[in-house]
Amino acid sequence: MWMFRSRVKPKPTLYGFLVENLIFGGVLGFTFMIFLWQIYLYYRQRKKNQATKQMPKEFNNIMDAETFKKCQHYQQDKINFSLCSTLYSAIEEMLILVLGGIPFLWGVVGSLTAVFGFGPEYEILHSLLFLNFLTTFTTLTRLSWRLYETFVIKQRHGINHQTLAIFLREALKKYILNQCLLLPVALLLHIIKIGGDNFFIYAWFLLFIVSLVYLSLYTAYNYYIAPFVGNSPSLPDGDLKKDIEAMAKSVDFPLSDSFTVKGKWNCVASARCSFLSETLPQVEGQRYNDSEILAGMGHELGHWKLYHTLTDFVINQTSSFLRFFFFSRMIGCRELFSAFGFTKTQPTVIGLFIIFQFIFAPFNELLSFFRTVLSRRFEFQADAIAREMGKESGLHTALVKHNNYKLDFLVDDWLYCMYHRSHPPLLERLRALANAKQD
Ligand SMILES: [Zn+2]
Repeated sequence: MWMFRSRVKPKPTLYGFLVENLIFGGVLGFTFMIFLWQIYLYYRQRKKNQATKQMPKEFNNIMDAETFKKCQHYQQDKINFSLCSTLYSAIEEMLILVLGGIPFLWGVVGSLTAVFGFGPEYEILHSLLFLNFLTTFTTLTRLSWRLYETFVIKQRHGINHQTLAIFLREALKKYILNQCLLLPVALLLHIIKIGGDNFFIYAWFLLFIVSLVYLSLYTAYNYYIAPFVGNSPSLPDGDLKKDIEAMAKSVDFPLSDSFTVKGKWNCVASARCSFLSETLPQVEGQRYNDSEILAGMGHELGHWKLYHTLTDFVINQTSSFLRFFFFSRMIGCRELFSAFGFTKTQPTVIGLFIIFQFIFAPFNELLSFFRTVLSRRFEFQADAIAREMGKESGLHTALVKHNNYKLDFLVDDWLYCMYHRSHPPLLERLRALANAKQD
C-alpha cells in the first residue's frame, strides 16, 4: 500500500503535504462524510416513524388502521436493515481503500495471467479479468444483503412476491448482462490508449452508441421475444384495448400491441422508435380494475408526452461527456495512481476506476440528488397528464392500492424524503391530484 512508497524521487506537495496523501485523505474523508450523512437521514426517518402514533386524518377514507400499522412495522424493520447494510458498505469500502485492496487485486490478477503466459503487455486482458473479479465480488456481497431483505424481512411482512428460483434466475441474468457489458470496456480502453488528446470525444461516442444498441435490443426483446417466451398473449379486443389505443394515439405514442404479462400489463412501442420507446409497465400482483389500468397508462403516457425518457437520456449523455472530458484532463496525473498504491504502473482501467468512482464522488452525489428531485417533479407532471385525460379517480385508487401492496412509508421525514425519494410520497401525490396542478 501507500506506506511502502518509494521515497527516492521528490514528490509534489501542497501546503507541506504530499499531494497523493491529500488525494487519498480527501477520498477517505468524503466517503466517511457521506456515510455519516446517510446514517443521519436514516436516524431522522426512524425517529419520525416511531413518533407517528396516529394515522394522519387524510388517510381516514382510504386506509384502515391495521394497514397503517403494518406499514409502520415494515418500515421500522426496513430502516434497521438499511442502517446495517450502509454500515457494512462503508466499512467494506474503507477497508478496501486503507488496506490497499485495489492494488492487491490488480497484482493477483497479474500473477494469474502471467501463469498462462500473458505478460504486462496484455493490459486489456488483465483489465477485463480485474473488472470480472471486482464485479463478481460486489455482486456476491450485494446478493447476500438482497437475499436477506427479500426472504427474511419482506417475507416476515408478507410482501415478498418472489420465489428463490426466480430471484436467483433474475440475479444470474443481471450478472451475465453486466459481464457482457465488459466487452465494450475493452474497446473503450483501446480508444483511450490510441485516441490522442481528444480521446474523450471518441470514448463518449462509443458509450453513446452502446446505449443506443442496448435500448434497441431491449425494445426488440420486449416486442419480439418477451410476449412469446413469457406466456404473454395480446390483450383481447374490447373496450380496454380500444381505450388504451385511443390514449396512446392522443399523445402520438407509437403503440404496436398490448400484452398481458403474468398479471402485469405491458404495452410495447414500435421497435422503429427504439431509443425513444418506453415500456408501459403496470403494477404487479394486485388486481387492478380497468379504470385503474387506464390511469396508470395515462401516467406513463404523460412521461412520454413530456419527453421525460428523452430528458433522462440527454442528462445521462451530457454527464457522461463531462466525465470523460475531466477524466482526459486527470488521467496523466501520477499522484492519482500513487495515492491508491499504484506507484510503478498507471493502468488505464485503474485510472478509470479511481477517477469515476472516487474523484468524481462529490459530482456523482450531487447529480444523483438533482436526478431524485427532477424525478419527483416528473412524477407530479405525469400524474397531472393522467388527470387531464380524465383518469383522476382511477389514479387515486391505483396509487393507494400500489402503496398498500408495497407497505411504503406514509409519513416521511422531509429531509429523508428530499434526498431519497425518486417518487413523491402517497399523501403528496393525492393532494396534488386533488389540487389540480403541480408543475
Ligand atoms: Zn412515473
